[in-house]
Amino acid sequence: METNQLKNIVVLGGGESGVGAAILAKSKGLNVFLSDRGTIKDSYKKILIENAIDFEEGSHDEERVLAADWVIKSPGIPKKADLVLKVKQQGIRLSSEIEFASEFTNAKIIAITGSNGKTTTTSLIYHILKNDGYNVGLGGNIGKSFAYQVATENYDYYVLEVSSFQLDDIQNFRPYISLLLNLSQDHLDQYNYNYEEYALAKFRITENQQNDNFFIYNKDDEMSQKLLQKLEVKATMLPFSLKEKLDKGGYSVEDELIVKLQDEFKMKVADLSLVGSHNVANSLAASIASKILNISNESIKNSLMTFQAVPHRLEHVADINKVKFINDSKATNVNAAYFALESVAAPTVWIVGGIDKGNDYSEVEALVKKKVRAIVCLGVDNQKIIDFFKDKVDNIFETSSMQQCVSLCKEIAKEGETVLLAPCCASFDLFKSYEDRGDQFKKYVLES
Ligand code: ADP
Repeated sequence: METNQLKNIVVLGGGESGVGAAILAKSKGLNVFLSDRGTIKDSYKKILIENAIDFEEGSHDEERVLAADWVIKSPGIPKKADLVLKVKQQGIRLSSEIEFASEFTNAKIIAITGSNGKTTTTSLIYHILKNDGYNVGLGGNIGKSFAYQVATENYDYYVLEVSSFQLDDIQNFRPYISLLLNLSQDHLDQYNYNYEEYALAKFRITENQQNDNFFIYNKDDEMSQKLLQKLEVKATMLPFSLKEKLDKGGYSVEDELIVKLQDEFKMKVADLSLVGSHNVANSLAASIASKILNISNESIKNSLMTFQAVPHRLEHVADINKVKFINDSKATNVNAAYFALESVAAPTVWIVGGIDKGNDYSEVEALVKKKVRAIVCLGVDNQKIIDFFKDKVDNIFETSSMQQCVSLCKEIAKEGETVLLAPCCASFDLFKSYEDRGDQFKKYVLES
């Protein structure tokens, strides 16, 4: 069925992306019904009412959902939820919000996925384009949903942060430029505990691309390399690497970052506003995308020098009594914490803990031995961390609130040391979210 013949849209989930999809459907003159099994936030309910969109909360009217021509599923709803399986069984088209929204815009899409660095790189590319005068929107998992912007704005370009959950339900989504930054184990509970299955979901970002599109990928990433041997990619492939020099793509093996397409872009790593080798990789990926769009070297360089780190990602909070405090609350997996530890100067007081997602701490063992003088655990259950590090780090402390944790860190950190919050874990045992965890950290660090 053509998009314009679809009349009855059902949106599952009443959060940012679901409400955005409903507004877009309504603005296109389609019948739309939004259904959320939980409760919908008051602010979203108000928008639905203002836009005369029919909705329900607390349960799903199954009959009505299954009468839809097209179901839009919010990324937070598990793909194995009963109702989702029924929608699929009945052969109803099931799409994510980015798929749905992309059907209603001719704007060029730059889509970014990966296990870590999505928000940073998405914001960085947006910053470069915006500074260069592009009529560009920023969306996906950041800020206003893509669908809402398609309904209410008229951008020529979109820079979108795209999760594997959004990619699970695409059919035609076809970015002009797609980026797969890296792969490491995350969210495996949603992918049958199969790393390859999760990685393949991320690769779907290039599935519909054609030879006039571009796919930027990480040449140093083992899983990406492995899957690229099996998959056929039609887009022009442009790699980046921190290990080897490349004829096409981008690399940084010494103190410079170099991008080679038709011409060459070069700048000193020391001039980047972001710190850490992972951010050199993110900056390389962003520079390749910018060169594809023919943005001038001077403009790219200027933007890479002025970009402000996104909060909670290696955010420098303060220097107090010659101790540096860094907030990387968004380091919710071991791989992200690895790069945080790598980027700070030794010796470090490392704050770690929260809800473990099946962490394997051996990934950071060597770095921790080299750089960490003290571990401060911050979580309800710290046993796994203590068991793993007890014979590797001399000083291990346990705390159970951010206030207690920061005051202990202030007491034990010595002049010239860094206190790093990079928890490797989700935050929900003691905090509302990783933002809440990072905000509390900053608050207590800045309080004297
Ligand atoms: P995402 O949106 O993919 O979660 P963020 O940009 O929010 O990524 O960063 C999440 C965490 O990962 C932060 O701790 C950040 O410092 C770290 N990080 C950022 N870029 C990378 C990268 N390329 N590789 C590994 N870790 C990274």
